[in-house]
Amino acid sequence: MTCLFCQIAKGEIPAQKIYEDGKTFAFLDIKPISKGHALVIPKAHSEHFDDMDAEDTHHVMDTVQRLAPKIMEAVGASAYNVGVNVRPDAGQVVMHTHIHIIPRTADDGLKSWPGQDADNLDEIKDKIAANL
Ligand code: 5GP
Ligand code: ZN
Repeated sequence: MTCLFCQIAKGEIPAQKIYEDGKTFAFLDIKPISKGHALVIPKAHSEHFDDMDAEDTHHVMDTVQRLAPKIMEAVGASAYNVGVNVRPDAGQVVMHTHIHIIPRTADDGLKSWPGQDADNLDEIKDKIAANL
C-alpha cells in the first residue's frame, strides 16, 4: 500500500518537517489555509481519526497541544484552530489520519462554521446516547 503521509513520515517524500518523535510527525501543509498551517500525524498508518489506536491518539493530541501555541507564536498569529476531517464527506482527502493546526489572526478573513437554528435536540441526544 502506498500512502503519501506514510512516505512523508519516513522521509521518502520531502516536506517541511517541524517536529518528530517516536510516534508522531508534524509538517507544513503544502496548500496552507494560513501562514504556518501544519499537520500532525501518527507515524503508524491509520485511515481515520477513529481508527487510530488509543496510544497513538494520546501521542498525536499531546503533540498538537504542545506544538500549536509554538506555531502560533512563531508566525505572529494570535489564535489557532485545530481540526480533523474524518472521511470524504467531511473533506478528508488524504486517507492517513492527520490533525490540522491553522494559525489565526483577528483580521485574516477566515469564517467560522455557521450555526443553524436547533431542531429536535432532545431526540438527537437520545439517538446518540442510545448508540454509545
Ligand atoms: P484533508 O482534506 O485530507 O483533511 O487534508 C489534507 C491536507 O494535506 C490538505 O490540506 C493538503 O493541502 C495537504 N497535502 C496534500 N498533499 C500534500 C503533500 O504532498 N505535502 C504536504 N505537505 N501537504 C499535502
Ligand atoms: Zn499512511
